[in-house]
Amino acid sequence: MAGILYLVPTPIGNLGDLSQRIIDTLAGADFIAAEDTRVTVKILNHLGLKKPMVSYYRHNTETSGPVILERLLAGESCALVTDAGTPAISDPGEELVAMCAEHGVTVVGIPGPCALVTALAVSALPTGRFTFEGFLAMNKKNRKNHLDALQGEQRTMIFYEAPHKLLSTLADLRDAFGAERRISLCRELTKLHEEVLRTTLGEAVQWYEENPPKGEFVLVVEGAAPARTQMPTLEEGIRRVLSLYEEGMSMKEAAKQAAGETGLNKKELYRGAVQTQSE
Ligand code: SAM
Repeated sequence: MAGILYLVPTPIGNLGDLSQRIIDTLAGADFIAAEDTRVTVKILNHLGLKKPMVSYYRHNTETSGPVILERLLAGESCALVTDAGTPAISDPGEELVAMCAEHGVTVVGIPGPCALVTALAVSALPTGRFTFEGFLAMNKKNRKNHLDALQGEQRTMIFYEAPHKLLSTLADLRDAFGAERRISLCRELTKLHEEVLRTTLGEAVQWYEENPPKGEFVLVVEGAAPARTQMPTLEEGIRRVLSLYEEGMSMKEAAKQAAGETGLNKKELYRGAVQTQSE
């Protein structure tokens, strides 16, 4: 019978986030597939565990994946871990999970540390609907296409970014979504200097121009405001002015209020209402 692939999250900055289930899964696996064995060995040492390890990282998934799959099919169980956080989320794992699914190997995801979920939860932005966008491409054209595709996106958007690219990414987000759009910058989550800066894209750019960013960041960006419903016609606006007038407002006041409600031009509303009334 085939073994099981366990996706095992590791702390994003706080060893206290190693749950009992994470520890038990690491202890029970026949071998560990690690993004960087030097990083993972530190966690194993911390837990007093010794395990055979294989490397599974971005540039060897094509060669290492089939080897891991073969061992799983032969009945061994494997714990996949990355340097920090949940495997397969902007980290190696996606292809291996797909291969296992294709070959009927059970994949069990262990819940645990994940920067995007932690950031979204503390962002103070709407959490009901969100979209995870990972890292923006370095390539200018791909980056622009990505941001163009997000124009009008109403869900809260989550981005990962490295500190040395933060400022240029913030400037690109500001140019794409406007300086007034709200953003929560979640920095060094679960660590000693954890902080959440809730501000606007324009102010964030200014702030980090003066205070060079340090540490790891998740950017949580407010979605676009829902598109305005279709603007009422001038005739509808005039009817609204006349009804306010009949309720006792002066024509001037009624035109002003109707203009505010409908977005139509105050003078045109006033002129139209006076003319309609005199017909
Ligand atoms: N798989 C990981 C997860 O589940 O979150 C993400 C790996 S991705 C290569 C690394 C990015 O996650 C960083 O560039 C940063 O955007 C974010 N990140 C990781 N740890 C973080 C932390 N402690 N605080 C803020 N962001 C963090």
